[in-house]
Amino acid sequence: MHEMTIVANILEIAHRQAAAADAVRINRVVLDVGKLAGVEVEALRFCFEAARSGLSAAAELDIRELSGHGRCPGCGLTASMNEPIALCEACGCVMEISGGRELSVVSLNID
Ligand SMILES: [Zn+2]
Repeated sequence: MHEMTIVANILEIAHRQAAAADAVRINRVVLDVGKLAGVEVEALRFCFEAARSGLSAAAELDIRELSGHGRCPGCGLTASMNEPIALCEACGCVMEISGGRELSVVSLNID
């Protein structure tokens, strides 16, 4: 599963940073996930809970969903996007995604 690979990467980052800070436990991992990142938020949560171990055994995953938006290369119109493929309302060009593909660890809460 795609999400399991992502979660493994997230946990690796969290464990590395926690170890570098001499932490005894990871309390929370805050993640930015864009609506157009192609990731199922519920699957991420499920995988995260299944994959936690050691320092992160009791860690919570805090997901901040970011809205998607795009810009038309033809006429410059900007609009929100909920699907990765969308056509410009004004001229019918395929919109270019300008935001909403984020997938990154924003912060950690560690002890
Ligand atoms: Zn347009």
